[in-house]
Order: sequence, then C-alpha cells, then structure tokens
Amino acid sequence: GRETQVLVTVAALAEGSLVLTFEDRTAVETAEAMRRDFVANVSHELRTPLTALMGFVETLRGAAKDDPVARDRFLAIMEREAGRMNRLVGDLLSLSRVEAEERRRPTTGTDLGAVLRGAMQALAPLAEARQVQLLREGLTEGLKIPADPDQLTQVFTNLIENAIKYGGSGGEVRISVDKIDYEPVLRRAALRVVVADRGEGIDPIHLPRLTERFYRIDTHRSREQGGTGLGLAIVKHIVLRHRGRMKIESEKGQGSRFLILLPVS
Ligand code: ADP
Repeated sequence: GRETQVLVTVAALAEGSLVLTFEDRTAVETAEAMRRDFVANVSHELRTPLTALMGFVETLRGAAKDDPVARDRFLAIMEREAGRMNRLVGDLLSLSRVEAEERRRPTTGTDLGAVLRGAMQALAPLAEARQVQLLREGLTEGLKIPADPDQLTQVFTNLIENAIKYGGSGGEVRISVDKIDYEPVLRRAALRVVVADRGEGIDPIHLPRLTERFYRIDTHRSREQGGTGLGLAIVKHIVLRHRGRMKIESEKGQGSRFLILLPVS
C-alpha cells in the first residue's frame, strides 16, 4: 500500500542531448520514515514521565513542602516515573545492542533448560503476587544449543512476564519444550519452546504488528503494567540473531501461545 518513490535526475550533455536516470528510492524512503517514527516515539515515551517528574518537583517546592504525607506520596510517584524511564532506556540499549550483533551468530553452548529455570525463578514472585501458576512441561535434558545465555534469558523472561501480566487471568502459564528432528523452515533440527497462557487472548488483527516497537493493544494497560512497548521487539531481534523463528497464535477468549524455534546446531 505504500507509494513508490522514484528519483529522476536530469543531466544535460554538451551535444544538446539529455540523460535521464531513474532511481527507485522506495526502500530508502521507507527506512528513513521508520527511523523518524522511531525517534518521535522514543521522544514521546521519554517526555511523558519527564513531564510528570518536573510537575512533581514543582509541587514539592511549593504546596506540598510542609505536608509530609503528600510529600511521601509524590516521592513515590516520582520514583515510579523515574523507574519507567530507566526501563525504557535499558530496553532501548538492549535493542540497539542486539541489532548491532545481528550478523554475529552466537556459538556458546548454552543449556536451554537452565535458562528456562532461571527465567521462571526470577518471575516466581510476580506469578505468586498475581496468583498465576508457572508450569514446566516436556524435555528437560539434552537441551544444549549455540546461544547467548543472557539474551535467551531475556527472551523467555519477556515472554513469561507478558503471559503473567496480560494472560494471567487464566490462572496458569505453561512453558513447554520439545525437539523437532527436521524443522522445514529452518531446514534443520530445532528446539521448540511454547509459552502459553489462558488469558483473554489477542484479536488476530493485532498479531502481525505485535512485535513492532511501541506497538501495544492497550497503551493504558501496558503503561499501568510498567511496560515499555519494546519487549516483543527485543524478543524478535534476539531470536533472529539466533537464526530462529518466532510465531504467535491466539484467539480472543482462548489465551495466547508464543512459539520460539531455535536451531540445535
Ligand atoms: P509491553 O511493554 O507493552 O508489554 P511488549 O512488546 O512486551 O510490550 O508487548 C506488546 C503488547 O502485546 C502488549 O502491550 C500487549 O498488549 C500485547 N501482549 C503481549 N503478550 C501478551 C499476552 N500473553 N496476552 C495478551 N496480550 C499480550
């Protein structure tokens, strides 16, 4: 649906003839438009908490100066807003680091089982607070793959955290692993990890755009949950760097399944 952009250059030659060159600029212009959108989004995302912080500094200087109860409440809000900015900057750094490394394929032998245990342990307190059971199924042995352990941990932390935050109403999140001897898209053996929740699910119209930076189904809800809107974009880039694939399956009312395929060698 995008317009084609063609750059036409006209050069006059001495003999009285003209040379016309046609250059298809569509890809360049599209990349440039995406970069502009991204910068505009980042600026907006940073400005929102910053405006709140500046407002509360003002209030603390003035009206709330001699009211310890109000002061504590405002400081708590300021802490939350600063935390939001901190997470956003952290996610932006993660994203640019992964992008910079996209061509360098990880070679370290990493135990996917240990990575999943680690991610589940880190999220156990959140799951408990939301009364969500984290369940592990499938293979637990022989899960060594070439991977960056920190990046893989980030993938599954993001997916499990989302499943708890957005799909937690279903009461459980299942993390299962199996091995596919020949995965046709990757054209080799692969491990498949599925993170499945039983929440409200996602309307299929959102699925193609879900991994875009700052794409959220419900901005207010994402903000309330402390989300940056970058979690799934980071997941996608890490998986691509590992020459893997990511798939999202969901139906409204049926929960969601996030599938990650990772080549075994
Ligand atoms: P956020 O920081 O907003 O969580 P993500 O990139 O991790 O950003 O996710 C993008 C959006 O995808 C979320 O705002 C949410 O609307 C939706 N989403 C992600 N995971 C799930 C899930 N398990 N169930 C329902 N919606 C989800």
